Amino acid sequence: MAGKPARQIIGERGSLLTVPVRAIWFQLLIVFAAVGIVSMSATAMTTNATQWVTLGVLVACAVAHNELARGIERGRREVSGPGHVDLCSVWLFAGALLLPLPLVGLLLVLVYGHYQWRSTFIALHRRIFSVSVLVLSALAAHQVLGLIGGPGHLFGPSVSTTVAVILLALAVYTGVDVALIATRVHLYGAPGVTVRKVFGDPSKHMLEISTLFYGSLLAFAVGYSPVLAVLAFPPVLMLHRSVLLKQVEEKASKDAKTGLFNSEGWHTRANRERSRALRSKEAFGLLMVDLDHFKRVNDTYGHVAGDAVLKAVADAISNEVRDYDSVGRFGGEEFVVLLPGMSEDDGVGVAERIRHAVTQLVVEAPVEGRTTVIRNLSASIGVSTFPNAGDDIEPLLLAADAALYQAKNSGRNRVVSWTALAKPVLAVAA
Ligand code: GH3
Ligand code: MG
Ligand code: MG
Repeated sequence: MAGKPARQIIGERGSLLTVPVRAIWFQLLIVFAAVGIVSMSATAMTTNATQWVTLGVLVACAVAHNELARGIERGRREVSGPGHVDLCSVWLFAGALLLPLPLVGLLLVLVYGHYQWRSTFIALHRRIFSVSVLVLSALAAHQVLGLIGGPGHLFGPSVSTTVAVILLALAVYTGVDVALIATRVHLYGAPGVTVRKVFGDPSKHMLEISTLFYGSLLAFAVGYSPVLAVLAFPPVLMLHRSVLLKQVEEKASKDAKTGLFNSEGWHTRANRERSRALRSKEAFGLLMVDLDHFKRVNDTYGHVAGDAVLKAVADAISNEVRDYDSVGRFGGEEFVVLLPGMSEDDGVGVAERIRHAVTQLVVEAPVEGRTTVIRNLSASIGVSTFPNAGDDIEPLLLAADAALYQAKNSGRNRVVSWTALAKPVLAVAA
């Protein structure tokens, strides 16, 4: 703890107090299981020099990786906020394939100890829990490796057997890790943190699984000669850097205030969906949502409270739609939603759900240093559908906007569909 600001130490202690008792019991169970199993296997363990050299090389690589990635992480945090991209599974999984369990435990403690000291200060109890989870994941992987002689004996009777066993070990390692973390998330029950949210982003899985595949290759190289870890190093750093690029790209398409797509990001997705709908001859819906009398919220509570309302409405809209629907905010207090595959009736149904959800919102916002509750919000929504209201995005937005205008004019807090509008010009033309 030496050298760490007191604020962080208090934060770590404080955060355990916020953990529900059942989650604490679960954490304790996992930590005791990991410590117990490692201690038991340590008493029966015989090690050789190669294993200690392997451990030393993997720790050195993981520590050097972390040190060199600090610059990349700083850049990444500037674009995507706090949080840490953890690519050290490359070294850890290689260790799990090569080393007996107590040395895997030591590898984890040393590597994550260094992380804790230099990079990310997650609560200590969480750090201990995640190290214990990885010990149990490694234990499960070792059971699979037992089919070809156990950790460090990676060459099975044939190449295909070896590959099958390594893949199975990788799957078991990931499965145990995900199952235990998901259980903790479930028991923790923090508002807004669901198992789906934690594990819902496929790109993160792809990254994690790629690091494990790479770790498998590394295990063969290091198993042959620990010096070969040198060759593995630059690609890992490049992978880390590519994550930064991806996040810069993502950030460029998002609205900072709400986390929704900004105009550019939304239009990119909308144009892609239009091309898909043209090819498959399917419909899609488009909603334009505008808060009613939002200016009053700003005038009464101030802009900061207004921003909190915008974020709450953004979350409410996102909760009412599917993961692959695209919700955007182009600035201001208007939101757009693109609903792939939805007919007019479906779109109106979703719009009604959103309208109702906004009326139920209770937003806690800071007003002059105190928390104030804002409620009785409402929104008006215009609906248009491809291809009825237009075969391109701009006419569809105009059509939804015209329907929204009608919703405002006929009393607000309502949904109006473009097809329900009187269209004198079109009628004459027809
Ligand atoms: P209507 O029911 O007719 O939509 O009334 P309204 O007051 O919601 O509409 P109007 O367009 O007159 O006002 C929109 C207000 O939204 C004005 C502007 O100050 C506020 N606004 C726009 N962008 C932001 C923002 O990012 N944050 C905050 N707090 N307010 C914003
Ligand atoms: Mg408005
Ligand atoms: Mg407006």
